[in-house]
Order: sequence, then C-alpha cells, then structure tokens
Amino acid sequence: MIECTTCKISFSPSCRICPRCETYEPTLNERIEYLISAAEIALEEGAADADLESKLVQEGVSSQEAHEIVHERATKVRRATRYYGYKRLFGGIAMVFLAGFPFAAAIFGTTRRVTFTALGLMLAGMGVRLLVLGTRNILAGRD
Ligand SMILES: [Zn+2]
Repeated sequence: MIECTTCKISFSPSCRICPRCETYEPTLNERIEYLISAAEIALEEGAADADLESKLVQEGVSSQEAHEIVHERATKVRRATRYYGYKRLFGGIAMVFLAGFPFAAAIFGTTRRVTFTALGLMLAGMGVRLLVLGTRNILAGRD
C-alpha cells in the first residue's frame, strides 16, 4: 500500500495517482514491485512480451529497464513451462505404451474384446493428447 502525503490515506499501488485528491503521484520506486508482479502474472497468463514492455513504459519505467524486467521473467516462465511440457510428453509416451496392453488383450484374448479395445483407445487418445500438448509447451514455451 502507498500512503498519500496530502490526505494520509493508503491506496493500492495499482493506482497511478491518489484516488482521493487525484494530485499525489507515488514515485515509480513505490510502485515498481507491484508493476513487476503484475507483469509476471500477465506473462503466466500468456501476455506478449512487447505488450508488457510498452505497458511498463507507459507506467514510467525506462524502455531499457522494461525490456530487462520482461525478458528476465519471460525466460523464467518459459523454462518452467518447458519443464512441464517434458513431463506431459513423457506421461503421454507412458500412456501410449500402456494402451498396448488392453489392445493386446483385445487382439489375443477371447473375452471382453470390446471393453479392452475401448480402454486401449481411451488410453491412446489421452496419451496422444498429452504428447501434442507437451510438444507445444516445449516448442512455444507457453501453455
Ligand atoms: Zn491524496
């Protein structure tokens, strides 16, 4: 929270000026932490780097610093997303592999062939979906 020196009220760092007197302007220093965490959240939600940079510049951050802030966080977010992508990819491979068992039961067994086929298709479908999603995470670095 930021305190207005004129009205002595506290207000959110999301405000660029005091909501009561509308004259007191907090310094960039008082708002920078808020601005950075807002940028981090937006990045996780898939916002474009360039949009976030220009938003920070509008808030008074120098373009050099805005670039550094966004670049550093974007790298972090992308790394985490890629790691998640690899987990999805391996989960998908495991599921496709597991789908082989019900398929084998359906092909070589004599009973409940429809059930085993359905189970195999379900596992294979989920596996392929994970493979696709995981690959997309790894390539794009976003969800
Ligand atoms: Zn005020």
